[in-house]
Amino acid sequence: MTQTQKRIFLSPPHMGGSELDFIHTAFESNYVAPLGPMVDAFERNFSTFTGIPHCAALSSGTAALHLALRTLGTGPGDIVLASTLTFIGSVSPITFTGAQPVFIDSDTETWNMNPDLLAEAVAGYAAAGRIPRAVIVTDLYGQCADYDRLLEICAPHGIPLIIDAAESAGARYRNRHAGTGGYCSVFSFNGNKIITTSGGGMLCTDNPAVAEKTRWLAQQARDPAPYYEHSEIGYNYRMSNICAAIGCGQLEVLARRVAQKRAICEHYRRVLEPREGIAFMPEAPYGQSSRWLTVITLDPARCRCTPEGLRRALEDCNIESRPVWKPMHMQPVFKDCRVFGGSVSERLFHTGLCLPSGTAMTGQDLTRVTDAILRALDGQPCE
Ligand SMILES: *Cc1c(COP(=O)(O)O)cnc(C)c1O
Repeated sequence: MTQTQKRIFLSPPHMGGSELDFIHTAFESNYVAPLGPMVDAFERNFSTFTGIPHCAALSSGTAALHLALRTLGTGPGDIVLASTLTFIGSVSPITFTGAQPVFIDSDTETWNMNPDLLAEAVAGYAAAGRIPRAVIVTDLYGQCADYDRLLEICAPHGIPLIIDAAESAGARYRNRHAGTGGYCSVFSFNGNKIITTSGGGMLCTDNPAVAEKTRWLAQQARDPAPYYEHSEIGYNYRMSNICAAIGCGQLEVLARRVAQKRAICEHYRRVLEPREGIAFMPEAPYGQSSRWLTVITLDPARCRCTPEGLRRALEDCNIESRPVWKPMHMQPVFKDCRVFGGSVSERLFHTGLCLPSGTAMTGQDLTRVTDAILRALDGQPCE
């Protein structure tokens, strides 16, 4: 097949229009890097948008999670409980600290961390006198986990809840923004996320001391002295002023991007839901997903096409799609780690596929994708 049609990507960057103006302003001030007024503005505006009082702009979501764990003093001998159905950046910071990750499976209703399995894990470790240092819960594909239920489980043991909201900027949990109510939450502005700074992250918290410690650790942990003095090891994890300028522009369109992502999901549902054997990632009644990515599952007993077959058929039409995250407990690097449950995320991995969800897609692009999916399901080649 000759690939004459332009490629449709899974979730490419989508600029809003004012990013370059903010970059120009940053250049004119000569605050190119590091830090500067755009970083302050981006933090302030993100705080206003989310309603979370203290926000620290960082070099990535992974860095933000690493610092969240560092502010808690996480280290060797500690256990950190985490969602198994997630991206590696959610859990690799646990290993940076020398602590041990223990994974918790998803539930079928939200695909997020199963609160009953979390309760079982917490009770087991508490009985053994090993209170986990933290819980990291991922908001999967733009949908908030059930924070209130998770907090109910963690609070009696004083276990801090870190919300990995890297995929859920703009989503709602009850009447609040995603990432609200825990010890802290972490956002990502990587190139594939709903808004991007070309690369970046944010740590958000109600606690000013946590934000202050985060900024301190992110700037090489400098003690107050005229020379460079260090009593702890820190990192070079701050966001540059230029990246923050892009973020200021992107934040202006975040609410619109959520509406566009949801409309894309609705289009897919209208066309594909009537088909035998196709289901969509459910939306929890307690919130509003950003639908960062639209995700379907194919029932092997009722579909002529496997998820991998569909992925390859789309690739033949120059359309990018991607399997659901491979659960962390199935990763070779975590083969010795403990997992509570596991079968739900394994099934989602084996049956799921993420569909192109770029907000700059035209109606024509969307029709191209759905036509290609329908043909693949009927066993026909790409046109
Ligand atoms: C993208 C992502 C991260 C990591 O963010 P980076 O900014 O790429 O470091 C962490 N967790 C989840 C769930 C993500 O999707």
